[in-house]
Amino acid sequence: LSRGLDVLRELPCETTDGLRIPLWVNTGLLADVVRAQERGAEGVGLYRTEVPFMIKERFPSEKEQLAIYREQLQAFHPLPVTMRSLDIGGDKSLPYFPIQEENPFLGWRGIRVTLDHPEIFLLQTRAMLKSSEGLNNLRILLPMISGTRELEEALHLIQRAWNEVRDEGTDVRMPPVGVMIEVPAAVYQTRELARMVDFISVGSNDLTQYLLAVDRNNPRVADLYDYLHPAVLEALLRVVTDAHAEGRPVSICGEMAGDPAAALLLLAMGFDSLSMNATNLPRVKWMVRQISSQVARELLDKVMQLESPQAIRSTLQETLRSLG
Ligand code: PEP
Ligand code: MG
Repeated sequence: LSRGLDVLRELPCETTDGLRIPLWVNTGLLADVVRAQERGAEGVGLYRTEVPFMIKERFPSEKEQLAIYREQLQAFHPLPVTMRSLDIGGDKSLPYFPIQEENPFLGWRGIRVTLDHPEIFLLQTRAMLKSSEGLNNLRILLPMISGTRELEEALHLIQRAWNEVRDEGTDVRMPPVGVMIEVPAAVYQTRELARMVDFISVGSNDLTQYLLAVDRNNPRVADLYDYLHPAVLEALLRVVTDAHAEGRPVSICGEMAGDPAAALLLLAMGFDSLSMNATNLPRVKWMVRQISSQVARELLDKVMQLESPQAIRSTLQETLRSLG
């Protein structure tokens, strides 16, 4: 297997007719970096910054954050590293910053928390910017955005952090900034949001949960949680179309991108890159290399006519079987 991985690592991720699609990884711990490099990732599509916060007993200082972020940026340099601003709340709470709510997934989470605590957001953004000095492979990603007002506020804070660190003598460019599309409302505002940023990244885990009204962690309704639901696929297609209409690249960083069958559909939809768990990367790359973009598009057309996730899944499995 490891010989196979070595060979695959060096091969480009492209269809049989030469359509290239970069495969990125999702990271959190430093250990993810090693696995990502072994598998030939072309960048980091999602660095979950909650992870270094979760393993501490208090909020990490600017200096501590800077050191952790710099490790990520250095490890992948010159490849891009997409750092998401702190996304706590929902199922992720910090022991030293407990959030107790009846409906945590509909409550205070992601950007909502950090806009209410701009000091946390500013400190984190300053640490990110400083950590990229001399490297300039940083991209900043904003989670749980549900409208333009939140995005405006967040962009304003990033600008302020940038002004501050520049005034202090740090020589950094303004990094590309992107917005996550993971709240259904944002799907319908993709164009407005896209105009304000440099890139779009779909969070299919939360988008599936919110579109289907199915808790992503509740085993009782796990059968209903399915990113191959036609409504989810319609939403994804719309995001790609609208992001491209504004000339912005669009990526996807939920678990779905790491499912080889789903990845074929995402490729056909026109996603510009896929970000996944490093473990799944070789399988996805192998699959992409088996198919032509033409066949992938035909498969997408066929699947978009189907009415249930079950029918979609069996059609995909048939195609995968025919590919061997
Ligand atoms: C998502 O929601 O799809 C996502 C990538 O973010 P997280 O799983 O961290 O919520
Ligand atoms: Mg999410």
